[in-house]
Amino acid sequence: MNYVRQMDPEVGAGLFSEYERQQNNIELIASENILSTASMIAMGTVLTNKYAEGYPGKRYYGGCQEVDKVEDIAIERVKKLFGAEYANVQPHSGAQANMAVTMAVCKAGDTILGMSLDAGGHLTHGSPVNFSGLFYNIVPYGITEEGYLNYDEIRALAKQHKPKMIIAGASAYPRVIDFKKFREIADEVGAVLFVDMAHIAGLVAAGVHPSPIPYADIVTSTTHKTLRGPRGGIILSTAAAAEKYNFNKAVFPGIQGGPLEHVIAAKAVCFGEALKPEYKTYQEQVVKNARALAEELMKRGFKLISSGTDNHLMLVDLTNFSDVSGKDMQNRCDEVNITLNKNSIPREPRSPFVTSGVRIGTPAITTRGFKEEDMAVIADCLYKVVSDFEGTKEEVRAQVSALTKKYPIYEG
Ligand code: PLP
Repeated sequence: MNYVRQMDPEVGAGLFSEYERQQNNIELIASENILSTASMIAMGTVLTNKYAEGYPGKRYYGGCQEVDKVEDIAIERVKKLFGAEYANVQPHSGAQANMAVTMAVCKAGDTILGMSLDAGGHLTHGSPVNFSGLFYNIVPYGITEEGYLNYDEIRALAKQHKPKMIIAGASAYPRVIDFKKFREIADEVGAVLFVDMAHIAGLVAAGVHPSPIPYADIVTSTTHKTLRGPRGGIILSTAAAAEKYNFNKAVFPGIQGGPLEHVIAAKAVCFGEALKPEYKTYQEQVVKNARALAEELMKRGFKLISSGTDNHLMLVDLTNFSDVSGKDMQNRCDEVNITLNKNSIPREPRSPFVTSGVRIGTPAITTRGFKEEDMAVIADCLYKVVSDFEGTKEEVRAQVSALTKKYPIYEG
């Protein structure tokens, strides 16, 4: 970063300001994490200079022998990590992975069953403003009053609409997803089962959330959330599904051009880290911290959707703090150096731009070294923010500062 600042002070200043923001903030956005130095450096290397359209051994450009080796390492490691028969590590993002899968399996107008955005699904699972909702006939499913996936409703909708594909997976769901049940439903109606495990991939890799691999035909993920790699996507599948749907062709030339080999190198580093024993300890701590934070919040009168969490995130329903919306809470937290995001709650009374809830996750703070005892301090800060913001602002800033100093990022 120093070199960039020397060469280009304007951009360099931006890099340093963002570094300081990350250093001084408690990051509670459930989809964010802090990349290892090795993976970060792999991205800033000469691999970015290389065009490599195609796949290892079958490229459209010369000079690909070295990037072929790196891409093969990434493929082999991710297959080993998740026990998958096929892997494609080229998708530039989670959305691109999902687009490639959807285009490979379905033709325009086919029916797809996906979790609705307001229940916790992702845009690419059928939102009307996304390619998925624009080009396919989407049947959305939701959650129960208590905030759990409603498998009876999913089965009934599947029987009624006979979808070509069922998508399981979520962006804001705090409970274990029963992939076996999804498989049974898909089999009952002859649908393809596609699991988007973007949020929970790290937990799955470490065995602290059940794996979708034995049940799903196809699995996608981002690599930058709980998995703790660089920003990007992956596609995994059975050998049979890869043969039938040709995901390689769907990614390139279907929706992408040249792969980002520098990012693929960083993905390979991340998968290597995830295969080490200490990764399991990290993911276990992510879940322990989430449980501890959920308990501490509930002790202070916060209502949680489904009254708790099984994974790395929780959804807080703020309606008992009547005048504080999700947006207010997000803005107030920004002022005291806590970063989280507003989130809709079941039967949301406010607009999606305002909302009545917030989503909180523990992957990033756990990477920094936060432990269960620190969750009580965070819960205390959030309670002060919601109940007496003006009166406690300075006190909360000091509490946040003490914690961020105690657990610095990128030491040494
Ligand atoms: N799938 C799920 C479940 C997600 O939560 C997200 C991102 O939030 C994505 C896919 C998309 O990932 P990306 O932002 O890399 O396109």
